[in-house]
Amino acid sequence: MRIIITLACTECKRRNYTTTKNKRTTPDKLEFSKYCRFCKKHTPHKETK
Ligand SMILES: [Zn+2]
Repeated sequence: MRIIITLACTECKRRNYTTTKNKRTTPDKLEFSKYCRFCKKHTPHKETK
């Protein structure tokens, strides 16, 4: 059930990270605060398709 998801910076919209999640235990969209090397700071990163 684990699927690969992409995390995109909410400020510059670049896709910086990929991760996996279990769709059954985590049905909602994921959001992490991660370092964006394009914004040069920590920004919220949201799950995209
Ligand atoms: Zn960014």
